[in-house]
Amino acid sequence: MIQTQLYIDGQWRSPLEGGTRDILNPADEAVIAQAAEGTRADARLAIAAARQAFDGPWRQTSIRDRAKLLNNIAGLIDRDAEELARLESLNTGKTLTESRTDMGDIAATFRYFAGLVASESGAVNEAPHHVISRTLREPVGVCGLITPWNYPLLQAAWKIAPALGAGNTVIIKPSNLTPLTTHHFTKLIAELDLPAGVFNLVTGGAEVGAELAESRDADLVSFTGGAFAGESIMKAATGNFKRIGLELGGKNPNIVFADADLDVAVDYALNAAFFHAGQVCSAGSRLMIEDSIYDAFVAKLAERLPRIAIGNGFHAETQMGPVQSAQQHEKILRMVQAGVAEGARLVHGGKRPEGDVYRKGYWLQPTLLADVTADMNIAKEEIFGPVITAERFRSEDEALRAANDTPYGLAAAVWTRDLDKANRMSRALRFGTVWVNDYHPYFPEAPWGGYKASGIGRELARIGLDEYTELKHSYINLAPKAMGWFGA
Ligand code: NAD
Repeated sequence: MIQTQLYIDGQWRSPLEGGTRDILNPADEAVIAQAAEGTRADARLAIAAARQAFDGPWRQTSIRDRAKLLNNIAGLIDRDAEELARLESLNTGKTLTESRTDMGDIAATFRYFAGLVASESGAVNEAPHHVISRTLREPVGVCGLITPWNYPLLQAAWKIAPALGAGNTVIIKPSNLTPLTTHHFTKLIAELDLPAGVFNLVTGGAEVGAELAESRDADLVSFTGGAFAGESIMKAATGNFKRIGLELGGKNPNIVFADADLDVAVDYALNAAFFHAGQVCSAGSRLMIEDSIYDAFVAKLAERLPRIAIGNGFHAETQMGPVQSAQQHEKILRMVQAGVAEGARLVHGGKRPEGDVYRKGYWLQPTLLADVTADMNIAKEEIFGPVITAERFRSEDEALRAANDTPYGLAAAVWTRDLDKANRMSRALRFGTVWVNDYHPYFPEAPWGGYKASGIGRELARIGLDEYTELKHSYINLAPKAMGWFGA
């Protein structure tokens, strides 16, 4: 049985108040680990350690050393990639193929930020000859990093790499449902020669996150998760006006025009909705199809859904694993039933698959709800499960209006062969990412984040590093002369 501990000030320790939590395998509900369940007291200890480390020699580390650190972390991720991927699949239920891809992306993220950090240099500004005016980037300070359960280590990497690369100190708090890969990652950090307190792990629930958000000794809080927690973090952060980054939920339209390559669009509509059983913030669960191809499109989907291989993520033939938790399982079923009550037509799924292997664990059939209309709640609320809702639209205008008519603005996709239309739509859709004739690709070089209620700030790309820096204007007068303005 795996046992995890907290890592504070360079030491592995048990929570001050001694709690543990059983970690379950979502495929069969077996206990796979006992995780340390920290509290506010542990968070406070970690913040104090991070504060002290930030105010110590860590501030003097060169960009070359920090870039080297990120490259070394990438090397350790590569070394343990298979073990990490297995832990991620065990804890989240996602297929091993998906977890292996995550680990590759995580190493790439560390290498990308290593390159950016290494190329960092302050700008020299135009100024009188006796003045040196420079714009410098400096670390923000102590950063609280709070991550969700769907992409545990990937979301952590998007925060840890730029935070450490910019010279901050960090406290990471993974979801208390999925702490295992972040714990293993911390073991990798412990192999490195980092000063105590630069990197801290506090596992636990909302109260640990709340302490990071509220603490006046933390300078930044970066959170990925749901809108509900996001709102309370934003309010808590006002105590010392700390910097905030919020990556929240989405209701992401996948819009298919009649002139698209239909077979490819059908194939991608499935990828968009069923990767990690739909538990992806950018999942394309809201499918919008042009009227003239609607029936044919829905029929093609209906043909493919029963053929999706549902199973344990460790089996090579599995295409879709279980959902993460009992709570998530119930919520998704409830939403599907509410959709049907609103008038949606259940074409496939909407229940637990049949068979002995699916009796235990959080299994759901891939689900298709047709005849959904834009005014239904099921078209507006984030489902976060393996569910596609199919809406019909009759014009570009109607599609655009309906797609934008959501509080969220994370990601959208458009399928068409008409480049003019593709360009018009990508400009008019109010989402942080708009894909044309594709779904889901993201990479470290491109920014990730949401408009509207999908969040504040961006991760990845240059801006993903800048979020962890303060900008300073350094002005040095080399030949000061008296001005004689006052009483001279
Ligand atoms: P969640 O909001 O329940 O929890 C996220 C994290 O916040 C966890 O570590 C949790 O313990 C902590 N937390 C919960 N309440 C808190 C509070 N009041 N104060 C401080 N911390 C608190 O989210 P989840 O259920 O783990 O994840 C699913 C959500 O995350 C979905 O809405 C999904 O769309 C979103 N998400 C967004 C992105 C993105 O990039 N925009 C990526 C992944 C997931």
